[in-house]
Amino acid sequence: MRKVYRGRDVEVSFDLDICIHIAECLRGDPGVFKLDRRPWVLPDESEPDQVAEIVERCPTGALLYRRLDGGRQEEHPGTKVTPMRNGPLLVTGEIEVRREDGTVETLPRATLCRCGSSKHKPFCDNQHLAINFRAPGEPYKIHLSPVRPKLAEPISKSQDPRRLS
Ligand code: SF4
Repeated sequence: MRKVYRGRDVEVSFDLDICIHIAECLRGDPGVFKLDRRPWVLPDESEPDQVAEIVERCPTGALLYRRLDGGRQEEHPGTKVTPMRNGPLLVTGEIEVRREDGTVETLPRATLCRCGSSKHKPFCDNQHLAINFRAPGEPYKIHLSPVRPKLAEPISKSQDPRRLS
C-alpha cells in the first residue's frame, strides 16, 4: 500500500512492502527522511532537485516522486537488468510489475527476487540474506551522503524504514 507525502514542489510516495531497508533515503537527507518523526517524509525540507535525486537512489522503487513544479520527472530510456552480487536483480526502466494479488504497478526501479525464496515475489524481501544466497554480480554501491557521513555505517534496527506503517 503506497502512502503519499505531498510537498509544495514535489510529492514523494512510499510503499513499505517493497522497501528492503538499504537506507539510501536516510543517508541521503536526514531532514527529509527521518524515522522518529511523523510524517517520516517531509519533501519541503530540501530543494526539489535534491529530493528527486535521493529518491532515485532507492533501488527498489519503494520511494517514488512526482514533481509538482514543472521539474524533470523520472524516466529511464530502455530497460536495464543488473544482478547484484549475492542478491536480487536490480531493474531500471519502465517496469510493469504484476503482484501476486493481480494488481499491476509501473515502477521506474525495482529489486526482483533472484534467490527464489522471497515471500513477496516478484519483489526481493531480503530472504537472500536469510538463506546465505551466493551468486556473482555487481556489488551494491551505497551512496555516501555529504550531509551526514556517519550514517554510512550499516543500518541498525531502529533506522529500518520497514518499522514504518
Ligand atoms: S525506501 Fe527503503 S529501499 Fe528505498 S532507499 Fe529507503 S530504505 Fe532503501
